[in-house]
Amino acid sequence: MDSERKYIIEHVTHPGHPLSYVEGSRVFQCDGCNKTGNGSKYQCATCDFDLHEHCATCPSSFSFVVHPPHHLNLISHAHLSLQDHICDVCGTEIDGILFYRCERCNFDVHPLCTQLPETTRHPLHPDHLLRLQPLSVGVCRVCQTSGCGHAWGYGCHVCDFNIHLQCLNSPIPRGSTFLDTLMSPMAVLIVMILALLIFLILMSTKNQHNWKGYSVHSVYVHR
Ligand SMILES: [Zn+2]
Ligand SMILES: [Zn+2]
Ligand SMILES: [Zn+2]
Ligand SMILES: [Zn+2]
Ligand SMILES: [Zn+2]
Ligand SMILES: [Zn+2]
Repeated sequence: MDSERKYIIEHVTHPGHPLSYVEGSRVFQCDGCNKTGNGSKYQCATCDFDLHEHCATCPSSFSFVVHPPHHLNLISHAHLSLQDHICDVCGTEIDGILFYRCERCNFDVHPLCTQLPETTRHPLHPDHLLRLQPLSVGVCRVCQTSGCGHAWGYGCHVCDFNIHLQCLNSPIPRGSTFLDTLMSPMAVLIVMILALLIFLILMSTKNQHNWKGYSVHSVYVHR
């Protein structure tokens, strides 16, 4: 194996077997949060058990900016009933055995969703920083639908500009405004083809005139 192994840890999700650090691995399924990963991981090679580096090393309790009133506790229980546990940040189901929870508020979040930056930038809105915030109001500028009232996303308070978390890396919609339509690659291509056609038509009619003029002139000279 060309991956370099660095550290050995014990983890509560996989008692009895130490996990080894594997750097820059290929795509894997995290047995903690049940999401895919493709970076560094911790692995039990005997059982083909993998954890994201973050899932293996995240603290058992911490304060999360999205849920300021209480500390969140890391829950890692293979036999916990996970029915109706929805991540309060990304709005998708929590189907792994590792997640953060505030018992008092019934607030749950995927470990990886606690790693979202508080601010980000997006090419659709280059002038202002976008902040992590609830998307219960407003329409996502990428998918053009409103938030489900549950999940968080990134938004600009100044401009009422919102983007879902899952739409952050989606392709930017084209043709949403008149200017976008004008500037779309297809429109530019069509304009270039039309210009070329007009140029060719002009050139051919000009050549025809020259040829006629020349032939009439030569006939005249020969006589
Ligand atoms: Zn994970
Ligand atoms: Zn094992
Ligand atoms: Zn989540
Ligand atoms: Zn709480
Ligand atoms: Zn969206
Ligand atoms: Zn703005």
